[in-house]
Amino acid sequence: MRLLIVEDETRIAGAIKTAMEMHNFAVDIVGDADSGLAAAIDPDYDIVILDRMLPGSMEGDEVCIKVREAGVHTPILMLTARGEVDDKVHGLRSGADDYLVKPFSMKELIVRVQVLLRRSPLSLGPIIKLEDLEVDVEQFVVRRGGKNLKLSAREFKLLVYLLYNKGQTLSKDKIISHVWDGDSLVVPNTVEVYMGYLRKKIDKAFPDKPALVQTVHGFGYRLGKTG
Ligand code: CA
Repeated sequence: MRLLIVEDETRIAGAIKTAMEMHNFAVDIVGDADSGLAAAIDPDYDIVILDRMLPGSMEGDEVCIKVREAGVHTPILMLTARGEVDDKVHGLRSGADDYLVKPFSMKELIVRVQVLLRRSPLSLGPIIKLEDLEVDVEQFVVRRGGKNLKLSAREFKLLVYLLYNKGQTLSKDKIISHVWDGDSLVVPNTVEVYMGYLRKKIDKAFPDKPALVQTVHGFGYRLGKTG
C-alpha cells in the first residue's frame, strides 16, 4: 500500500511516516500545496493524508477539489487545526473522505486510515487469502496449508503488496516503487532475488500444491494460480 503525506510540518510528517511504515505502507512526503497536488493526482497512491494549511499557491481544500476534478478518487484524510469550526464542513465539501483535528494520536490516525481503506475497493480486511495461503497484515503472520512461515520484513511487505494486487502483472519498477519506496539503489535484480526468496518459502516448500508466484516473462510478476 502506498501513502502520500502532504504536510509542511516535518516533525508531524516524519512521525506519520514512521508509524505507517510499521504498518507496511510505502510512504512519500511532500511539503507544499503545489507539489502535493502534482503527487496526489498519481492514481498509484492508495491513500493521501493532506494538511489543510500549506505553503504554496493554494490551501489543502483546493488541492482536494483539484484532485477530484482530475477524476482521482483516492481516499483523502484531511488534517486540520483545532478551533477552526468550519474546517469539517470545508474539508468534506472539498471532497475529502474524512478529517482529523490536530493534535491527534497516531493510533487514531491509523484507525482512520484503515477505515478509509476498508471503504475503498482495495480493502481486504486484516486477513488476506489466496488459495490456502493466509496472511494477517496486522499480526504479521503468514500461513500456507495451516503451516506458519517465517518471512523477513521485506519479504512480508513484498508478499502483502502482491496479494493486494493479486491476479495483476506487476513490473519490477512498480514493485520497487511500492515495496522499496522507490529507493534508487534498488535495481530490478534485487526484485528478482527477493521474488526467489518468496517463491522458495511459499511455493517450493509445498511441492504438491499449485505454485502461486508466477513470472510473466518480459513483464514482471503475478500472484495467483496459473490459468
Ligand atoms: Ca501545515
